[in-house]
Amino acid sequence: MQVFFERREMLAPGIWQYFFRSEEPLDFVPGQYASLHLPGVMHDPRGSARTFSLTSLPGTSCLSFVVKHFDLQTPYKHRLQALHPNEPARLDHAMGDLVLPKHAGTPLVFVAGGIGIASFISMFQKLIEQREERPIFLYYSLRSSREHIFRNITDSYPLQLKQVILAPNRLRAQEIKDTTPPNALIYLSGSQRFVEGIHADLTRLGTPHEHIIFDYFDGYTQL
Ligand SMILES: Cc1cc2nc3c(=O)[nH]c(=O)nc-3n(C[C@H](O)[C@H](O)[C@H](O)COP(=O)(O)OP(=O)(O)OC[C@H]3O[C@@H](n4cnc5c(N)ncnc54)[C@H](O)[C@@H]3O)c2cc1C
Repeated sequence: MQVFFERREMLAPGIWQYFFRSEEPLDFVPGQYASLHLPGVMHDPRGSARTFSLTSLPGTSCLSFVVKHFDLQTPYKHRLQALHPNEPARLDHAMGDLVLPKHAGTPLVFVAGGIGIASFISMFQKLIEQREERPIFLYYSLRSSREHIFRNITDSYPLQLKQVILAPNRLRAQEIKDTTPPNALIYLSGSQRFVEGIHADLTRLGTPHEHIIFDYFDGYTQL
């Protein structure tokens, strides 16, 4: 569908939230992602589209997502940064399995590495909007406290536990297992290295693979 760039807002140094408007609401479930195609991206080895996790709520014409920018970045990211208000772009259908389970009583463990927290923001907002309290444990691994984004949203949800892990400390799968119920569904989102590392450790500790749901943000070496 066609979307129109509206504005972007800096959430932390190098981390921006982008807002687009669509003519009709995009059909998606909180936690899903979609690919954004930009016009005029030249000589980008990865092409003119990237996938982003939606941070807005379904049912509105406002769409948002979070992006990390680096000093050295691809032509796509340069183009994204240079968009003018009302410039058109194209968004594919939303996809992804990192969504809330049907059974509201299932304990949920959200594990975010850096801007991987974006995958959980629409879910939190939906639950807050519906005044629905699910048992959620949040582990948020960050390179610096300055990159702690969406604090207002996570702080306004009645979490069972919120653990922020700042580098050089590392989140350990054993800590997750020791502090959460054995029947919890564990959701992982972050860089490929972060997600694959925790996934492998959880598996080694005996977590059934159907209890682990994950998305990783490809293309980033670190988040
Ligand atoms: C399911 C899914 C969900 C995702 N959700 C999000 C999301 O919500 N937000 C998000 O930001 N991304 C998300 N991604 C990742 C996103 O699609 C991009 O792959 C990612 O943003 C990297 O973009 P890029 O390739 O333009 O690289 P950049 O972000 O420009 O760069 C990535 C790294 O490569 C380095 N680099 C870039 N260009 C060069 C160069 N010419 N020479 C040397 N080094 C260079 C940069 O310095 C940086 O370290 C998601 C991916 C998937 C699969």
